[in-house]
Amino acid sequence: MRRMTLLLLLLLFTFASLAISQDAAKTSFIAENIDKSADPCVDFYQYACGTWMAKHPIPADRATYGTGGMVFDQNLDALHDALEVAANPTAKRSPAERRVGDYYAACMDERGINEAGLKPLQPELARINAIASKAGLAAQIAHMHSLGMRDGTQIAQSGRAKSLFDFSAALDDKDAKKVIPVVDAGGIGLPDRDMYVDDDDRSKGMREGYVKHIQNMFALLGESPEKAGADAKTVMAIETDLAKVSMTRTDRRDPNSIYHKMTVKELQALAPDFNWTAYLTAVGVPTTQGLNAREPKFIKGMNTAIAAHPLDHWKTYLTWHLVHASAPLLPTKFVDENFDFYGKQLTGAKEMRSRWKRCIASADATLGEDLGVLYLEKKFGPESKRRMDTMVANLEKALAADIQSLDWMGAETKKAAMVKFHGITNKIGYPEHPRTYPYAVIRRTTPLANWWSVNGDDLKWTLARIHKPSDKTEWQMTADTLNAYYDPQMNNINFPAGILQPPYFSKDNDDALNYGAIGGVIGHELTHGFDDQGAQYDAEGNLRDWWTPEDGKKFKERASCIVDEYNTFTVKDPANPEKPIHLNGKLTLGENAADNGGLRIAYMALEDSLKGKEQPLIDNMTPQQRVFMGWGTVWCNNYRDKAAALQAKTNEHSVSKYRVLGVVQNMPEFQKAFSCKAGQPMVSQNACRIW
Ligand SMILES: [Zn+2]
Repeated sequence: MRRMTLLLLLLLFTFASLAISQDAAKTSFIAENIDKSADPCVDFYQYACGTWMAKHPIPADRATYGTGGMVFDQNLDALHDALEVAANPTAKRSPAERRVGDYYAACMDERGINEAGLKPLQPELARINAIASKAGLAAQIAHMHSLGMRDGTQIAQSGRAKSLFDFSAALDDKDAKKVIPVVDAGGIGLPDRDMYVDDDDRSKGMREGYVKHIQNMFALLGESPEKAGADAKTVMAIETDLAKVSMTRTDRRDPNSIYHKMTVKELQALAPDFNWTAYLTAVGVPTTQGLNAREPKFIKGMNTAIAAHPLDHWKTYLTWHLVHASAPLLPTKFVDENFDFYGKQLTGAKEMRSRWKRCIASADATLGEDLGVLYLEKKFGPESKRRMDTMVANLEKALAADIQSLDWMGAETKKAAMVKFHGITNKIGYPEHPRTYPYAVIRRTTPLANWWSVNGDDLKWTLARIHKPSDKTEWQMTADTLNAYYDPQMNNINFPAGILQPPYFSKDNDDALNYGAIGGVIGHELTHGFDDQGAQYDAEGNLRDWWTPEDGKKFKERASCIVDEYNTFTVKDPANPEKPIHLNGKLTLGENAADNGGLRIAYMALEDSLKGKEQPLIDNMTPQQRVFMGWGTVWCNNYRDKAAALQAKTNEHSVSKYRVLGVVQNMPEFQKAFSCKAGQPMVSQNACRIW
């Protein structure tokens, strides 16, 4: 399902533990982080975060480490405590505790996993070997998709595992009341299609490392070095064919470019060598009133690849996807090899995270709503919810005032924008009706089978929604998640309990700090409703143009100012330090627009709340300064060079430093708060503003 989030998924690679002072009332956390030798008008990021960054080197098991990482750790510790109790097989456990507790216990049993060796994998390997002809591929792909190799299912320190293509169900972009099947590009093991085709040293190095990794994994399965080497090349050849016919992330930002509703018959015509009816029946969609094939060019290219490669090569490809997706729950040597590529080589992390952390990540990726229930018992109170409700209401008021005051937007578009605005709903904390995983069979002794079983349950749950009305109470993030999102088709903003804590939010903070931190986050999610993607959906969540042509043109001009601005920002290329990597302004436009709009309306909401009140200095800072300090603090983040390069190349979110600098240099309010002068670096000569 389409959604716009706050944080980068890269953080999934980076959990670790280090303590943070949790004394929320001690607001001097902000003051302590300041680098007093830096001038806020020259480099506000260094000013707000310099001392924090110097004091917090990146732990060995991480690719990045920031103030957000500290919150991750607190969440992990809370989940760890809860899981240690839930994993204890007493009769008192609730069904949720039993499921997630046993899942965790099985995952933690490294000795048992090593003793079992490849035995749990054997039936699946045999099944692949038994495919008699290419006609059998459809049923096999359906089976592997039911085991979890079908979409963004993420097990710790594994890449995405989508065999051949991606399959899910989502709201129809042009009829948001209905859920329809979605067939999408997939089938590759590197994090992005560009890595298969780009010509720079970094991409070439990644490809070499990847082929070597596949070879090592085949060798661990027992193949001779020669055969493992040849098989790795086969996999790379097939995946390269699939990557070449996949769209770039940047092109996919246009929602119309990935909306191609068609019948099964039309889909079949695109890929005659793959039996779609057999696939859909096997996967559990016996009838459909139409589906979205997001990338028709991919479907055609996939068909060409099926025809071009012999069956044996496809068996090799499927074997790789099976072992790759299963790696985290296989014997230690597979886990180590998996980390060596996906952790060390891709992100620069030096050491693997502790097993308990990986098992929590695995439980969160599979039985996340069970885990959320456990988390809430520890961490979330009604008072937090009340304070958040008030802040969201104030931010919404500010956004409404902002829209009304825009000088570049005409009355007709403003009216439509306000209709959309009034349609926005919000969810705070956790799902009212957590999922119960009725088809999942969890045993304390079968970690891999557990993972497959929960994924099978997830597929059934996903497909059961087809042809049914949308359920607005559904969450796409678990309650313990440190993140937030806007869903353009639900037209709602969502804040899991996991993010409602310092430095994002504290009931003990002064308003200015909360507005700069969680307020900026709320504003960010609200603004997603009006970013380059969100602005194309109407109040009902349908992809429909509600802009007058003239205002649409002005919107695009303003957006291109932000594209140009962020294109100038760079990170180091570890493979070629002479030639820095530029951020991709088009890829990151939605997130950057949301950051810019978000902090602006947070600032407006603060100003509104200050009216008529005393404005005492705290930590010797004015409220106007503290709102910017709040925003800066949530993005204090150290990166390994590899991680920054990977993010710059593949992520819709700009690296943290520019999430701060890119915004403040556009804001006269910032310049006023810190008395910056024209010509200083934080005073943009060509300030961008959409919202
Ligand atoms: Zn976002």
